[in-house]
Amino acid sequence: MDFQDKPKRQMNDVSDLGITCSECNNSIKELPFVPNKRQDGTFGNLYCYECNKKRKPRFSGSKFGR
Ligand SMILES: [Zn+2]
Repeated sequence: MDFQDKPKRQMNDVSDLGITCSECNNSIKELPFVPNKRQDGTFGNLYCYECNKKRKPRFSGSKFGR
């Protein structure tokens, strides 16, 4: 069976990096981008797919802006 029903966004395998979600502490296995290690040796705040989804504000009329 093929799982090619939908074109999926390219995901990068980051399971080797040992990244955990800043929100739920789950280990992050893949990200839509390659995280860059910062000077302090961490990747900064990264969120798993689910938390990322929750954090994204919905466009419900109000706009962020200056
Ligand atoms: Zn999470």
